[in-house]
Amino acid sequence: MKSDHADGIVARYYESCEDGSVTCTLCPHRCRLAEGRRGLCRSREARDGRLVSLAYGRVCALHVDPVEKKPLYHFHPGEMCLSLSAAGCNLSCRNCQNWSISQVRPEDVDSTFIGPDMLPSLAARTSCRMVAYTYTEPLTWMEYTVDCARACREAGLQNILVSAGYVCEEPLEDLLPYLDAANIDLKSFSDDIYRKISHASLQPVLRTLGKMRDAGVWLEITNLLIPGVNDDPGMIRAMCRWLADNGFAEFPLHFSRFFPQYRMQDVPPTPIATLRMAEETARGCGIRYVYLGNV
Ligand code: SF4
Repeated sequence: MKSDHADGIVARYYESCEDGSVTCTLCPHRCRLAEGRRGLCRSREARDGRLVSLAYGRVCALHVDPVEKKPLYHFHPGEMCLSLSAAGCNLSCRNCQNWSISQVRPEDVDSTFIGPDMLPSLAARTSCRMVAYTYTEPLTWMEYTVDCARACREAGLQNILVSAGYVCEEPLEDLLPYLDAANIDLKSFSDDIYRKISHASLQPVLRTLGKMRDAGVWLEITNLLIPGVNDDPGMIRAMCRWLADNGFAEFPLHFSRFFPQYRMQDVPPTPIATLRMAEETARGCGIRYVYLGNV
């Protein structure tokens, strides 16, 4: 469905370059874009010397989900949350579950315009006290996420982010004051694997976790274990030690089972024994709440 915002809004996070191009400062990719070009997330475009977010308000998925589906197990268990998404992602994971809405341009999927001020009444109609920004990467439509989170907070609702956490500091700081809970997908504890599988890097994700912890956001962390990719016991131990040593021992850690997806059809499902090994490793490192997902 076409909307008033189908042409996008001027983005908040970019720098103008002398040659007329723009540099997006939203995520660590820092895409430098010539006129008419799109960033890696497919939803931010250089136009007339400015950067435009084409995903703003173009909601392509809207559901009422149990909060446990995010997954958040220690944040209002048993309640439902209004969950929404716009198209786009700044990662390109070969195992993406939601590739049909994350690895596409906003105009490639059906969408309905939902302004931030419309969300509180939608939440009330669906009896939800929480709104989740989820399914794709809400940080790539940050302007919309921040505006929605602010409107929902002012209406007495709580905000949940489900994200890979690959974002620059300044935009994240705009969102943190409105955020109540987040599930962050920590994809591995190796920069090399991040680059190979997701076209991203590890350190910005760890920084995001730290900033959320410091801001008092309730955090739960998901680690999808993919056979032969990120299931090395030594790496899992290093990740769990880092979490325990950096103040995350009381935040739930979800090890999730992989099933063949998208561009990883040739990789088998994660053996249950691998998930058990990871669970024991995490407990041995002092992580207090460890859960297995997709089993
Ligand atoms: S948010 Fe998108 S356009 Fe901006 S730097 Fe990241 S991938 Fe590039």
